[in-house]
Amino acid sequence: MSVEKGSLSIHSENIFPIIKKWLYSDHDIFVRELISNASDAITKLKQLSTMNETSIEENPQFKIDVLLDETAKTITFSDNGIGMTEEEIKKYINQIAFSGAEDFLNTYKDKSDKEQIIGHFGLGFYSSFMVAEQVTIHTLSHAKGATPALWRCDGGTEFELEPGTRNTRGTEITLHISEDGQSFLNEYTLRQTINKYCGFMPYEIYLTVVGKEPAKDAEGNVIIEEPKPLNTTLPLYAKSPSDCTDDDYKAFYRSTFNDFKEPLFWIHLNMDYPFNLKGILYFPKLNTEFDTMEGQIKLYNSQVFVADNIKEVIPEFLLLLKGVIDCPDLPLNVSRSFLQNDGFVKKISNYISKKVADKLSGLFKTEREVFEGFWEDISPFIKFGGLKDDKFYDSVQNIYLYKTLNGNFVTLEEYLESAKEKHDNKVFYVSDVKQQGQYINMFKDHGLDAVMLTHSIDSPFISHLESKKENVTFSRIDADLNEHLKGDETLNEEEKANALSHLENLFKSSLKLDSLKIALEPMKTEEVSAIVVLSEESRRMQDMMRMYGMAGMDPNMFKTETTLILNSNHSLVKHLMVETDIEEDTKHLICEHLYDLAMISHMPLDSDAMTKFIKRNNALLLKLI
Ligand code: ADP
Repeated sequence: MSVEKGSLSIHSENIFPIIKKWLYSDHDIFVRELISNASDAITKLKQLSTMNETSIEENPQFKIDVLLDETAKTITFSDNGIGMTEEEIKKYINQIAFSGAEDFLNTYKDKSDKEQIIGHFGLGFYSSFMVAEQVTIHTLSHAKGATPALWRCDGGTEFELEPGTRNTRGTEITLHISEDGQSFLNEYTLRQTINKYCGFMPYEIYLTVVGKEPAKDAEGNVIIEEPKPLNTTLPLYAKSPSDCTDDDYKAFYRSTFNDFKEPLFWIHLNMDYPFNLKGILYFPKLNTEFDTMEGQIKLYNSQVFVADNIKEVIPEFLLLLKGVIDCPDLPLNVSRSFLQNDGFVKKISNYISKKVADKLSGLFKTEREVFEGFWEDISPFIKFGGLKDDKFYDSVQNIYLYKTLNGNFVTLEEYLESAKEKHDNKVFYVSDVKQQGQYINMFKDHGLDAVMLTHSIDSPFISHLESKKENVTFSRIDADLNEHLKGDETLNEEEKANALSHLENLFKSSLKLDSLKIALEPMKTEEVSAIVVLSEESRRMQDMMRMYGMAGMDPNMFKTETTLILNSNHSLVKHLMVETDIEEDTKHLICEHLYDLAMISHMPLDSDAMTKFIKRNNALLLKLI
C-alpha cells in the first residue's frame, strides 16, 4: 500500500494557528484530551468484548502509558484499547477535524467566548498541536485481520497515512514537542498535569522517563521498584457510601486537597436518577473566624477533571467547602454562558443544594449531639447558604442552632419557647462576650438567657431572620435595661423626678456631653452603679455606616442615642441623688468615673478617655492615703 497524502484544510483558513492562539491559556489540556481518548478506546473495547463483538485475551491488563523522552523531545501516549483501522483514521481523525474545524470557524470567528471549545467541536485530539510540531499515530485495530496504520501530520494542513508497524492492539500517539511546549518535557510538570486531569481515570496510567537514572540504596545498589500507576482508578466518591470508612474519607480528603487538617464531616452524594451524580463534599475545619473561607470544588466528568469551582454548577455557598463532584451528564464541554442559562445545569445545582440541606437535617434529627459538636464550625457556611439561597434557607431554617449563655445549643423555637413568659418573640443576643460581660452577668443572675451571635456573618444573618420571621425581633443584650433586671421602685413619682433632674444637672456639668441621656432606674443588682445602653436601631445604623465605610457622611445624620442608666439602688448613686456636703470636685470626679465604668462594659474606651480614666484612678488612690 502506498503512502496516502491529503489535506486537512478547509476553505482558505488553517485551523491550527487558531487553536494555538485561542487556547493559549489552557496549554496543558492536551494531556487530558489524549489520555481520555485512550481511556475511551479501552472502554469501547471492553464494551465490544462484553457484547461478544470482539475477542480479547483473558484477564487483560488495560493501561495507558505515557513515555517522556527529554532528549528526543517527545511525549508518547499509548493504550491497549480498540485501535483504529486506516479507514477509521480517515473517518475519525481526518473527517472529524474537517467538520469540527468548519463548525469551529463558523461559530467562533467573531466571538470572544472561547472557553471549553475544543471538546465541543470534537477537536480534542488536535489540541496536541498546541504543544507539538509533529504528531504521529501508530495504531492497530482490534478487528480480526486488521493491518497497522501510521498517520503523521506536522501541524500544517497536510497529513500522511501509510501502513504502519505496530504489532499489538491499541494506539500510540507521539508528540514531537515544539518550542512552545518545552515546559512539558519536564517530568515534574508532566506528572503534575496528569495528576490534575487524570488522577481519577478508570484505567491505570504509568509514566516512564527515558534514560532516567534508577534509584539506588546507600550501598549504591539499584532499587528495583514496581511501577506504580499515577492515578486512583476507583476514587472514593465512585464507591458506595456503605463501603467507605471514616478513615477512607479522611485519607481521600488529604490526598485530594493536600490539606492535613481533618475535615469536620462530609456528605457523600450518590445518585443515578434523574441524572448521574456522585461526589463528596467536605466541611473543612476553620481555625479562626478569619481563616479564609475559600473552598475548592473540583468538577469531574466521568472521572476526568474538568475545572475547579464552576459556579454555574455548584451553588455559590458550597464553593466555600472542599469537594469533588462527578457528573457525566453535564454538557461540560460547552461554554460557560451556555451553562448559565441551561435548565438542566440549574437542576443539578438545586439538587446539590437540596442534598446538603437533607443531610444536615438528617444529622440534626438523628444525631443531635454530633451535630451540636460541629455546629460552631459549620454555622458560617450554613448561614451564608441561608442568605444566598432561599430554598436552602427554607430547608434548614429549623436546624439553625444558637448557643445560650450556659453554653447549650438551642433552636430559635426552643429559645423563644423557654423565654416566652419573660420576653415574647424577642431574642437577646451577645455579639462580643468579653465586652458585654457585665450585661451577661446581670442576665445570668436574674434568670434571663441570651444567645451568642458573635461571628461577622451574624449581623446580616440577624436581619435576614427578622425579614423571614415577621414577629421575631433581635436585640443586643446591651440595647436596653430589661424589665426583668429592674427591681421595685422605692421612690414616688415626685421624688424620682427631682432626683433625676438633680442628677441630670450634675452629670451634664461634669461630663459635658450634650447628647448623653440620663435615666434613673432601680436595678435588681446592687453591685452595678450604672450601665450605658444604645438602642438596637441606632447601633445597627452605626454598624452599617462602619461596614459600608460611609465615612464621609455627616455623623449627625444618624445621631445615636446613648443613655446612661443610673441604678437608684446603688449607694454611690444614692449619695449623688440628693444634696449633700460632698465637695463639688469630688462629685464631678465620681460622675466622670461612674460614666467611664459604665462605658468600659459597653465598648472599648478610646485612647483619650483611657488616659483620663487612668489618671483619675491614680488621683482616687491618692485620696485613700
Ligand atoms: P472526541 O474524542 O471528542 O471524539 P477527538 O478529536 O479527541 O474527538 O478524537 C476523534 C476520534 O478519534 C475519537 O472519537 C476516536 O474515535 C478516535 N480516537 C482518538 N484517539 C483514539 C485512540 N487512542 N484510540 C482509538 N481511537 C481514537
